[in-house]
Amino acid sequence: MTIRGDTPVRILIAEDDLTSRTLLVSLLEKAGHEVIETRDGMEAWRMLRMPDAPRLAILDWMMPEMDGIDVVRRVRGLRTELPTFIIMLTCRDTKADLIHALDSGADDYLVKPFDAGELRARMGVGIRIIQLQEALLQSREDMAYQATHDPLTGLPNRRAILEHLERERERCIRNGEMLAIGMCDVDRFKTINDTHGHQTGDEVLCGIAHLLRESVRSYDAVGRLGGEEFLIVAAMPVGADPWQLFDKLRQQLCRTPIVTRAGALPVTLSIGVCAAARDSSLDEMLALADEALYQAKSQGRNRTVCNTRRPREPG
Ligand code: GH3
Ligand code: MG
Ligand code: MG
Ligand code: MG
Repeated sequence: MTIRGDTPVRILIAEDDLTSRTLLVSLLEKAGHEVIETRDGMEAWRMLRMPDAPRLAILDWMMPEMDGIDVVRRVRGLRTELPTFIIMLTCRDTKADLIHALDSGADDYLVKPFDAGELRARMGVGIRIIQLQEALLQSREDMAYQATHDPLTGLPNRRAILEHLERERERCIRNGEMLAIGMCDVDRFKTINDTHGHQTGDEVLCGIAHLLRESVRSYDAVGRLGGEEFLIVAAMPVGADPWQLFDKLRQQLCRTPIVTRAGALPVTLSIGVCAAARDSSLDEMLALADEALYQAKSQGRNRTVCNTRRPREPG
């Protein structure tokens, strides 16, 4: 992202003096900005607290309904991710006034009558700052995405899916729902790598990830545990049959060859299912699903095995 002070932005002008407002609007529009104008502080405050508020505002100090200082204070109380850059505009020109405006939360200060060149330059500072804030927020969001997603398939990574599982486990206990997990392992995946190469193997993993995501219900979660193992987390009503849900998924997948550079390759999955009892811990659930998966493999692969633990006897 290039940070440039002359990038057009949306600017709010709150100024009750017609001459000053007309001049501001004309200068800013000439510079290519989109200008929204108002004559009173109350209206400015209403606009600045909207979700798509302008990122830059020029506020007159003395205005009807609410003065500029009051507007700034309220806006600063919002604590948004992307704060509005506020320039206070006033004919009050003492040091004490300037200090008061900045202390109240204004980012900059412009004395009337203002010079057009100074307005342009101060706007440029504001635009550079809001662009830096946007770039910072974007990189924070990118980092959060990278920390929780598997770069190959785009699915939630191991950490994210296990955190989701823990949250779902607590939610299901509260709501009296049943929580089931399916640990899915691609059968003889090493053979695909060995026969067609690692890149084709990667395409198969992406294809499986896509199919799993498409096949589960929108409120179920799919994540990549690692390698060629995926975890599905599905809440369901007590009494539902988790084996049936996961086995339907398995059958669907094995009927759909994955399109790769080496052609359409049929794949099969083995799935180890565990339905939690109310007092199952996360580790217990994973261990039971793992055990069921091991059984599915040893019974010949391309199958679903379910391991349901009964609640512990009290005492
Ligand atoms: P099984 O039916 O017993 O599960 O056999 P398998 O071949 O699927 O299991 P194995 O654990 O022997 O092999 C898994 C292979 O998955 C080995 C590893 O190199 C490969 N693998 C793990 N991660 C990736 C990846 O990101 N891309 C590719 N292409 N291969 C991967
Ligand atoms: Mg005024
Ligand atoms: Mg494996
Ligand atoms: Mg495997």
